[in-house]
Amino acid sequence: MNNSGTSGGSYQTEILCPICQSSGSNLEYFLTANRFLRCQKCFHVFKVISAEENQLRDSVVIGEDKKTKPPPLPKEIYENLNKHVVGQNYAKKVLSVAVYNHCKRIIYNMTTPIKKDPIDQQLRNKLQNSREHISVNHTLEMPRWDTSNNNNEDDKFTILLKNTSLEKSNIILLGPTGCGKTLLAQTIAKHLDVPFAICDCTNLTQAGYVGEDIESVIAKLLQAANYDVEKAQTGIVFLDEIDKIGARQGHNQLRDVGGEGVQQGMLKMLEGTVVNVQEKSRRFRNEIMQVNTTNILFVASGAFTGLDKLIGHRINKNSFGFGSDLDKSIENKKKSSDNNFKNTPVIDHNDVEKENSERDNLLRNVAPRDLIQFGMIPEFVGRFPILVPFHSLNRNLLVQILTEPKNSAINQYKLLFGLDKVELTFTDDALNAIAMQALEKKIGARGLRAIVESILLEPMFEIPGNNIISVHVTKDDVEGKSKPYCKQGLPQLKAKINN
Ligand code: ADP
Repeated sequence: MNNSGTSGGSYQTEILCPICQSSGSNLEYFLTANRFLRCQKCFHVFKVISAEENQLRDSVVIGEDKKTKPPPLPKEIYENLNKHVVGQNYAKKVLSVAVYNHCKRIIYNMTTPIKKDPIDQQLRNKLQNSREHISVNHTLEMPRWDTSNNNNEDDKFTILLKNTSLEKSNIILLGPTGCGKTLLAQTIAKHLDVPFAICDCTNLTQAGYVGEDIESVIAKLLQAANYDVEKAQTGIVFLDEIDKIGARQGHNQLRDVGGEGVQQGMLKMLEGTVVNVQEKSRRFRNEIMQVNTTNILFVASGAFTGLDKLIGHRINKNSFGFGSDLDKSIENKKKSSDNNFKNTPVIDHNDVEKENSERDNLLRNVAPRDLIQFGMIPEFVGRFPILVPFHSLNRNLLVQILTEPKNSAINQYKLLFGLDKVELTFTDDALNAIAMQALEKKIGARGLRAIVESILLEPMFEIPGNNIISVHVTKDDVEGKSKPYCKQGLPQLKAKINN
């Protein structure tokens, strides 16, 4: 690769072939996406890079590049997660550390040319100095490049630096639906400002079968990186519903198009390979882009329903999964309540919370072999060294989710009403009742919004063009025994507020 568009830091508009110095019509675009040109005279293919990129390339060496800045500390990542995600403290901690290590690994790999050189004292000193001024409040010691103190320990570190390569640690998130797995990964990606793509594994099939190919996963990441291959190569791929590609029981002899076959197909991509992505959009006219997946962090996520039972059997405890005694007692209560009082759910939310906490306790003990028993192949599980169990959300946490995060559902509705100059309020009991309904539906925090939406439907229908100035929601309104109270303002008062 060569760059003839820049020289001595100033940008030249005319591009010259670096071999034969031809210019103008002798140069033809070869791959527009990567800005490759082919010289028609000497057939040399080269890449054009901008002056800024050239500067970036230089600064990679001296450590001033944006990408070589120390990553946010695990505590910073954790604090940022606290602003958006309620509970899940263990998962937040594990992910903060994992992501920090991932960033360190990328930086380390970017500086490997220096690492491989016989000790270049000048460069190492430069790098050390640049780290000193970047990491003012950086409590973690970055690698000690200075070899002037030639004591034993430093020798050991130099040997370590030469002989050790950092391998990536993909992550599996396990836990009930709607407990914040996707939200956590999304929040981290936003904080780090790296491309982030969510792929639903349910649609993935082996190559050659109807469905999405495995390469589509990387195509989505490339799209998220606005077709910047280099940026995509350090992105995060979120593999949702990973449990849906578990091998199907009893079908081991046959080709398992959507399960084991997909896991097999993913192995190379997870570890690190070059994936050819054919871009079908008009912008790139079926160009093939090559994406190296070595530095892409894969975060897989799934509910793994029934996994708690497998773990329970393994550790010789009674399982509280589906079909367990507690589950059956809840089902029986539901049936009798349906018969006796139609439409009045009398499932005790305490039962649901107890069932959830038993399940959480079992999930906390998850080990790779449980996932293998569930239907994931050992090679696949082996490529995810970090397993992160998520806990289910109890009533208190659901109330917090309703009100506390920056973008909470209640705040969003308050804003929506506020735009019509209407004040929206809820009693504490009302918030509790909403959380209880979500708990009973067993869809986690995902159900909260739908419940609030249905309670506020009538007021939202009435407010526009009316002189309502406030809406107050109580527990009875949530339980359907009454309608939210809409306070009418005096016509003049409303007009005054509107002005
Ligand atoms: P899943 O665990 O199935 O991936 P999501 O992360 O997609 O669930 O959660 C769905 C929605 O529920 C999120 O967009 C968010 O609004 C809300 N939510 C879920 N868990 C939490 C949580 N722990 N804190 C704040 N909001 C949450």
